[in-house]
Amino acid sequence: MATDETAGTLVVGAGQAGISLVTALRELGDTAPIALVGDEPEAPYERPPLSKSYLRGEHDRPTLVFHDAAWFADLGVELVTGDAVTTIERDARGGRAVTGSGRALEFDRLALTTGAVNRTLPLEGADLERVHSVRTLTDADRLAPRLRVAREVVVVGGGFIGLEIAASARALGAAVTVLEASDRLLGRSVTPLLSDTVRAAHERRGTRVLLGASAVGLIGEDGHAVGVALADGSVLDADVVVVGVGVDPRTDLAAQLGLTVDPRGIVVDEHARTSDGLTVAAGDCAVGPNPFARGLVGPTRLESVAHATDQARAAAATLTGRPAAYASVPWFWSDQGDLRLQIAGLPHGADHTVVRGDPAAERFSLLSYRDGLLIAIESVGSPTDYLAVKRALEKGMTIPADSAADSSVPLKRLITRGRDTRSP
Ligand code: FAD
Ligand code: NAP
Repeated sequence: MATDETAGTLVVGAGQAGISLVTALRELGDTAPIALVGDEPEAPYERPPLSKSYLRGEHDRPTLVFHDAAWFADLGVELVTGDAVTTIERDARGGRAVTGSGRALEFDRLALTTGAVNRTLPLEGADLERVHSVRTLTDADRLAPRLRVAREVVVVGGGFIGLEIAASARALGAAVTVLEASDRLLGRSVTPLLSDTVRAAHERRGTRVLLGASAVGLIGEDGHAVGVALADGSVLDADVVVVGVGVDPRTDLAAQLGLTVDPRGIVVDEHARTSDGLTVAAGDCAVGPNPFARGLVGPTRLESVAHATDQARAAAATLTGRPAAYASVPWFWSDQGDLRLQIAGLPHGADHTVVRGDPAAERFSLLSYRDGLLIAIESVGSPTDYLAVKRALEKGMTIPADSAADSSVPLKRLITRGRDTRSP
C-alpha cells in the first residue's frame, strides 16, 4: 500500500478517457505525479479514423497519436505502453498495482479508464483468418491491406462500426453485404426514421443490407474464411468478414477491487466515483446516471469520444477534491463514407418527433420531444440544425415543435426557454 503522499495518481487505460483525465488533472492545476498505463504498444491515439479514413489509407499512422513523448515529459506524466495492469489492491490511503511485466506501481489516487473489448461471434469458424473486428490500431493495420484487395466483404452487425467499415470497403471497390440481426440498422442508438434513411443511403451506394439476418456459421477453406452461413440456409461468399456486434466493458480490475460492477460496466455516480467512494472510472468501461437519459431505464453506458472526454473531466475534478457533476449533453457523429450523421441528446423515450428537411435527399433533421420539450436531434447533412439544437440543450432551452419543421427558418432563431429537459 502507498506510504506517503508522493505516490501520485495511477490511471489504468491509455485511451480516450485516460488521456482526457490526465489532461484535465493538469488543467485543474494538479501537480502530483501521474502514471498512465496502457496495454497497447502505442501512445494514446484517436480511434474514430480506424473505421474511416485510416482504414481507407487516407491518414498516416503518426497523425492519430494525441501527443508526442515531449508532451508527457513536460506535464510530468509517466506513460507506460505495452504493459497491462494485471493485479491491483487498495485501501483508503492508496494502493499498489502490478503489470504483466512484473512492474509495481504505487498510487494514492486511482482511475480506471479501461474501455471495452469487441464481442466475438460465438460461432464455429470465428477464429478463421480473414475474420476481422476493429477496436485497435493493430486491428485496423491487419484489416486495411485485406480490404484493399477484397472483392466480397460481409459485415456482421449493422451498428456504427459495421456501417462505417462497410462504407470504407465499398469506397475501396468491394461488393459489400451488411447483416443485421434486428429489423433495423443502428437500432440501439437512433430512431427508426434515421435507421431507414441510413439503410437507403447504403443501398443507393451499392451496399446490400439484410435485416433480420443472423450468421450461424463461418465457412473456411485452408484456414481462412470464404463464406458466411445464414440462419435461412443460404451462404454468402466472402473473402473478408468483418464482425461489429457490440462491445463488453473491461471490468476485471474493478471486480478485483471489489467495486460494484454490473454487466453494463463499472457502476459510478454523477461524479464518476465508483462504489468505494475513492476510485474513479470513466468512458466505455463505466455505467452511471445521465441526466439526459430520460427514456432509458437505469444507469447508462454511452460509448463515444465526447462521453469519454467529458466523464473523464468529471473524474479528474473528483480526484482533485473539487467534484463537479457530469451533466454534459451527449453528442455523437458517424461518418459512413460521404454520409455524415450527427446526434445530440438521447432520442430514446421520445413521444413526438418532427422532421425538418428531406430524408430522401439525405439532408434532414429529426427532432425528438418528450412532454412537449426538445430532447434530441438526429441530423444528416444538416450541421447548422445540429449545432442549434446542441446549444439549446446545453442551455436547458427548447424549440417549439409546431414551428421546427419549417426549414426556411433557422432553428437557432426558434430557441426559447422551456422547463429543463434534464431529469431532476
Ligand atoms: P478506449 O479508447 O478503448 O481506451 C481504453 C484503453 O485501456 C485501451 O487502450 C485498452 O487497451 C486499455 N486497457 C484496458 N485494460 C487495461 C489494463 N488492465 N492495463 C492497461 N491498459 C488497459 N466514437 C465517436 O464518438 N465517434 C466516432 O466516430 C467513433 N468511431 C469509432 C471507431 C472505432 C473503430 C472505434 C473502435 C470506436 C469509435 N468510437 C467513436 C468510440 C470511441 O472511440 C470510444 O467510445 C472511446 O474510445 C472510449 O474511450 P475509452 O478511453 O473509454 O476506451
Ligand atoms: P453496436 O452499436 O452495439 O452495434 C452492434 C450491432 O450488431 C447491433 O445493431 C446489433 O444488433 C448487431 N448484432 C449483434 N449480434 C449480431 C449478429 N450475431 N448478427 C448480426 N448482427 C448482430 O456496436 P458496434 O457497431 O459493434 O460498435 C462497437 C463500439 O464502437 C461501440 O462502442 C460503438 O459505439 C463504437 N463506435 C462508435 C462509432 C461512432 O460513434 N461513430 C463508430 C464506430 C464504433 P442488436 O442491437 O439487435 O443486438
